[in-house]
Amino acid sequence: MAESIKLKVSCHACGYVIEGTAKYGPGHYVPEGVPFEFIAIGKTVSEKGRRVKAEAICVCPKCQVRNKYII
Ligand SMILES: [Zn+2]
Repeated sequence: MAESIKLKVSCHACGYVIEGTAKYGPGHYVPEGVPFEFIAIGKTVSEKGRRVKAEAICVCPKCQVRNKYII
């Protein structure tokens, strides 16, 4: 089952708060809000354990600007 990652970001251009989900891993996933494109770019290891480092890309529903975030 795919993991759904909740994201809350603000648009670089208009400041609109975009809320949505990104899919991580294979399998079925139910999107919520604005769909994010999720691209894993590596892993970071900290005291809290392993974490996926990724880029999330979404299109602002207000101004159509494509935003990219490192999560
Ligand atoms: Zn915007």
